[in-house]
Amino acid sequence: MSNNYAIGIDLGGTNLRVALVSREGSIVRKTRRPSPEGVVSSLCEAIAEIGCEGIAGIGIGVAGVINREKNIVSVSPNQRAVEGVPMVAELRSRFGVPVFIENDANAAALGEKNSGSGRELENFVLLTLGTGIGGGIIYKGELLQISAEIGHMSINAEAEKCECGNIGCLENYASARAMVARTVALIEKGTESILKECCKGNIYKLTPEDIYKAALDGDAAAREILKDAGKYLGVGLANIINIMSPEAIILTGGLTGAWNIYVQEAIKEASRRAFKDLFDSVKIIPSALGDDAGTIGAACLVFRNIAMDAAAS
Ligand SMILES: [Zn+2]
Repeated sequence: MSNNYAIGIDLGGTNLRVALVSREGSIVRKTRRPSPEGVVSSLCEAIAEIGCEGIAGIGIGVAGVINREKNIVSVSPNQRAVEGVPMVAELRSRFGVPVFIENDANAAALGEKNSGSGRELENFVLLTLGTGIGGGIIYKGELLQISAEIGHMSINAEAEKCECGNIGCLENYASARAMVARTVALIEKGTESILKECCKGNIYKLTPEDIYKAALDGDAAAREILKDAGKYLGVGLANIINIMSPEAIILTGGLTGAWNIYVQEAIKEASRRAFKDLFDSVKIIPSALGDDAGTIGAACLVFRNIAMDAAAS
């Protein structure tokens, strides 16, 4: 094996994904496990399982704000276990190759630019719609290495507190966690829904998939929850469109499975709110790489950063 391969890691709030990826962005081997408590030892185990002989380096995509001087995650509201962990330094000394870290949605944007829905695009915004909401921005063909915490844009000036310390953040209304919390609150208040019988009656185990299935089965409460979350996502999309006027917004993450209700409602709401010309020139499209965008993007980060370092020296 030559240095035409890299390890890409996607360390999310729910899953740890690790893949061996070629320079062209194809996955050779991959593995997935629940996100660990002991971050570094789990990363090492997963890398050993995949095999890493002769790789160019390791790229880590992780939810949270990256401190680029210290090469650590400084804050991660949905994943406190990764805050301050010296993953880069430890993997570098363990495997003896260059190791790079990036926000997970930024990595996914790089993956989509390299070999997904963004391949032909110069300017786009990627949103990860899952437990939380993340953002990554490609501008003039390049990843903007900024925090792009789109899920924490304020959309309500007076509301409940977010995990990040702000109030009224987009992800408090439009994320999977928000949808589930709203469903539980409605059922606890006595709202009629077939979701009451879900998970053997344990409503605290409900997932967004359960809500989507119930909506497709005609459950009014489930439909309302998805449409409402979609409406708030649409507020976020309109803000992005008005500020950035991207060619496209690429949506990825588990919630895109509810495209026909949740995303359609978001697109409708964005069309009502954004400048008409700007809305008419943006495509709102699904990710082509799906769950693999993060690992492919993290591996792309390795090749990109090594090439940039070589060009600079
Ligand atoms: Zn927030």
